[in-house]
Amino acid sequence: MTAGRLEPRVERIKDDIIAFSAFVSPGEPPYTRLSFSPEDLQARAYVCRLMEGARLAVRTDAGGNIIGRREGACALPPLMVGSHLDTVRGGGRFDGVAGVVAAIEAARRYDEQHIRLDHPLEVVVFPAEEPSPFGLSTIGSRAMAGKLWPEHLALTDGTGRSLDAAMRSAGADPDRLPEAVRSPGDVAAFLELHIEQGPHLACAGVPVGVVTGIVGIWRGRIEIVGQPDHTGTTPMGRRRDALAAGSEAVLALEAVCSGAGDIVGTVGRVELFPNALNVVPGKMLLGMEMRGTDTACVEAAAADFTDRLDRIRDSRKIDIAFDFSMSSTPVRFPDEVVSLLREAAISLGIPYAQLHSGAGHDANHLAGIAPAAMIFLPSKDGRSHCSDEWTEWADIAAGTEVLAAAIQALDRRLT
Ligand SMILES: [Zn+2]
Repeated sequence: MTAGRLEPRVERIKDDIIAFSAFVSPGEPPYTRLSFSPEDLQARAYVCRLMEGARLAVRTDAGGNIIGRREGACALPPLMVGSHLDTVRGGGRFDGVAGVVAAIEAARRYDEQHIRLDHPLEVVVFPAEEPSPFGLSTIGSRAMAGKLWPEHLALTDGTGRSLDAAMRSAGADPDRLPEAVRSPGDVAAFLELHIEQGPHLACAGVPVGVVTGIVGIWRGRIEIVGQPDHTGTTPMGRRRDALAAGSEAVLALEAVCSGAGDIVGTVGRVELFPNALNVVPGKMLLGMEMRGTDTACVEAAAADFTDRLDRIRDSRKIDIAFDFSMSSTPVRFPDEVVSLLREAAISLGIPYAQLHSGAGHDANHLAGIAPAAMIFLPSKDGRSHCSDEWTEWADIAAGTEVLAAAIQALDRRLT
């Protein structure tokens, strides 16, 4: 063992991550573990045993967050570290799980090396980070940030089960949600290790990403109304084709976002009316989103896109209505925490790159109540939310070591 290094046990990390991939839903594509499914509940029970094995005191809070606590030497608010265990349908083995296992491994290494932190350490598993069958994501971290409302609890899944009932099945107590809420000052700092789910780190050939923030998300709805006419008898020059106009709108969004720096934009949903072979499309609805870290930049791109929609409207003699609004604000992690992650990587001799997250995470909500940051790990070929999702074991061990060193640095810095 090198003096002063935590040296996470790569074989143990590998065994733990593979163990979770056994808790998947039969009859669904691998590796599906939807939130509050029987398999998710089994995975939650299993993680409690792992935490107990790491000599953490385990409880489930009223919001369904599983919390494994290691006491500190001083009466201080806890340092918190964790991620999630649920997956999207057909998701992979690393999204969420890597962060949970890394956090537990850090706690195990402190225990094995008799390292006492001044702060208590809380390893957290947030329930339902992914868009759940109830149409809501990041449910546990929402509850912790005081943003899970009664109207959320009344949401139902496809079977009519309420979120309230699902949360109770996972050991939560929705009647006592205020007890799960952490206010600013209640948590000393929060770190989440997660796979990148994009190509940047793999392309850069580095094992660790220091995450500077999380994109904001803006969503929009475009309604295009033309005129449904007979496809055989209506000459090309007399048509008011909503689909042809909508196709121009899709390409316009692509062009706007391709030329606007760090912005991405996508039309991901299409509805066409009447959607018949022999009728010129009379109406089209498009669902779109834009993501970026800089609000002014996204707003400028949205204005450019609106101008282009106006030109499509005029040239094609159709009606276009465009509703666009922010659905989540960009998060910028505090420079002090980001630089501390950088210093941890440098001191361990682990190459890193700096990047922002294009996906939302539980850290979005935690950043509202505590100094927060994230560590990313390379995703092979940038792939995620699919069964091919892969991150090298050595990279997970490297990220875990940066995580563990950063927790110790935070412990010293914040005492
Ligand atoms: Zn995730």
